[in-house]
Amino acid sequence: MSAYPHMLRPLDLGPVTLRNRVMMGSMHTGLEETGDWARVAEFYRERARGGAGLIVTGGMAPNAEGAVFPGAAGLFTAEDIAHHREVTSAVHAQGGHIAMQILHAGRYAYGRDCVAPSPVKAPIAPFVPVELDEAGIEKQIADIATAAARAREAGYDGVEVMGSEGYLLNQFFAPCTNHRSDRWGGGLENRLRLPVEAIRRVRAAVGADFMVIFRISLIDLVPEGSTWDEVVALARAVEDAGANMFNTGIGWHESRVPTIATSVPRGAFTWLSERLAEAVSLPVIASNRINTPEHAEALLKAGTVAMVSMARPFLADADFVAKASAGRARAIAPCIACNQACLDHIFEGRTASCLVNPRAGHETQLSYSPATQPREIAVAGAGPAGMMAALVAAWRGHRVTLFEAAPHIGGQLNMARVIPGKEEFDGLVAWFAAALADAGVEVQTDCRAEAGALAAFDEVIVATGVRPRDPAIPGQDLAHVVSYAQLLSGAVQIAEGARVAIVGAGGIGFDVAAYLVQGRPSPTEDAALWLREWGVADPSQARGGLAPEGPRPERALREVTLMQRKAERPGRRLGRTTGWIHRAHLRAKEVQMLSGVNYERICPQGIEISLGEERRERRLIPADHVVLCTGQEPERRLAEQLAAADVTAHVIGGADVAAELDARRAIDQGARLAARL
Ligand code: NAP
Ligand code: SF4
Repeated sequence: MSAYPHMLRPLDLGPVTLRNRVMMGSMHTGLEETGDWARVAEFYRERARGGAGLIVTGGMAPNAEGAVFPGAAGLFTAEDIAHHREVTSAVHAQGGHIAMQILHAGRYAYGRDCVAPSPVKAPIAPFVPVELDEAGIEKQIADIATAAARAREAGYDGVEVMGSEGYLLNQFFAPCTNHRSDRWGGGLENRLRLPVEAIRRVRAAVGADFMVIFRISLIDLVPEGSTWDEVVALARAVEDAGANMFNTGIGWHESRVPTIATSVPRGAFTWLSERLAEAVSLPVIASNRINTPEHAEALLKAGTVAMVSMARPFLADADFVAKASAGRARAIAPCIACNQACLDHIFEGRTASCLVNPRAGHETQLSYSPATQPREIAVAGAGPAGMMAALVAAWRGHRVTLFEAAPHIGGQLNMARVIPGKEEFDGLVAWFAAALADAGVEVQTDCRAEAGALAAFDEVIVATGVRPRDPAIPGQDLAHVVSYAQLLSGAVQIAEGARVAIVGAGGIGFDVAAYLVQGRPSPTEDAALWLREWGVADPSQARGGLAPEGPRPERALREVTLMQRKAERPGRRLGRTTGWIHRAHLRAKEVQMLSGVNYERICPQGIEISLGEERRERRLIPADHVVLCTGQEPERRLAEQLAAADVTAHVIGGADVAAELDARRAIDQGARLAARL
């Protein structure tokens, strides 16, 4: 019997019966906008083949004014419908079901013509929206209904109408964005009119035998958001208007509470999905920070929610459901909720992919096809680049030996996994270990590869990583100065209550600061503590789910000063969608952040600094310890030995280019090299 009987049970919704309870939630991937529909179809085909019970597409605009950005995909022409038919046919051929999400962005639309219930600018958008008049409202509803009818024509099994995350329908419903006094605003009955009318008209447009999902915001996490009673009233009205199922949304895009980042506890908000399920008669889908079959099974076994939604986990592994049902859950590549290659790419105007799975979004371009001639391959260094290169080479049929000088595989990932809030990295290292074993890679730890021995292999890959950069600060040899590697590897401990100066405020400087101010287990492992730290309240007691007293972070364990030489704001170069979370966390822990710093000298009392080019305000930052987080240099000694011995080698990861190296780039480079060998 399967370990996941509740997850793998079919769900009869009337219009369709889904083959299991796992939904691949909507994600904007940017693939539709490339115009390469074979690529779009292949992306969804792989996820349907991998067993997703229901797939929901990225949000499709119902009209130009509702498009998230100019030119965002929608179903406007016969040609669009034909393209979408390629996608739906691909999914159906794999026995899957697919619904199209209709997303009207309202005031979040990036354009001067964006529309909203009231002319209130969103804090994250540059434009004041145009207030809709009666005719404008009718047009938006009609366009949403037309989009649903076209989705049916394109072969979709249903639509998901986006009513959460602060988009148009949510904007009409919440008091903070709806200041109208006509029949579309004011009291609850008027504020729910637009979402309810949209569902009623969608149902009329598509007929009875078509799935209509409404994505409802359970907790807005913005001031003057909805109350729980209002959410339930909306849900019941939407039910009466003809929906088949509720998907659930958590927080608006402008919210200052993280909702999907890696530091958010797993299932931090599923209690709200369960509460909605108890208040309505339609099936409810739980969402946000669910990324394992065990978690999905536990939620479904409890019997309140009918389905679970996972979006990014299907980027990390298209075969999530197939592997779980085959008893191979440990082979599922985990989504670590880092956003580095999915959401961050989208905000950089690139297509979405995945740190853990570089094939995501590139299914037609990056293939791990069997090698024509299996060879003996040596990989030196079991960090992210080396592990991925070894894995892909082995998947392709090569015989691979992976050498690691340290006692454990993982390389720099072992630094990340000890940082409070980055516990998901544990699962990533565990997955690599299991996948390498399953693929038959011979892993030799505690074994430094030497040029002489490597010469016997057909191909040599050097992935020896990085070493900390020497900042050459006078006094850095004093006993109280340590490198981030010494600290995070556990070689050096710093007592609680100590004053610590951190030199270098890149990703690792921020991580080290978090490590010093926060103990383990961290709030990421304790949802109640995490909700309190970020000021989240029960929406039945506080409008919008924001605690009136605000965030209540626990006291920092150490007194930390974080410094950089650049004059810009510290943390400005961290991830586009997660940098603000790291900055807010350290601010809450009263970490002092200094920019434009010159490090004059380290002395027994701390570190002497001055500011700016004119070296003004020379002063002492008192510190019991100084931690150097000043970046890395490539570790190329082995590559040089090989070159001297005339052995050709492929150099990847930090050993190749250390500057701004992250796990995403390292894994991508390892996978692409091994796909070519
Ligand atoms: P980094 O991002 O390059 O930062 C190095 C820091 O050291 C900078 O603050 C730099 O700023 C300073 N620095 C460089 N040379 C120096 C010198 N000679 N003397 C004094 N200070 C110097 O490197 P990292 O922090 O080691 O991170 C490595 C990689 O891992 C990065 O690509 C990073 O993005 C990634 N990572 C990301 C995260 C995250 O997003 N949360 C976490 C960990 C790691 P100044 O030159 O202004 O002083
Ligand atoms: Fe998950 Fe990170 Fe991959 Fe995005 S890039 S899908 S967050 S592992």
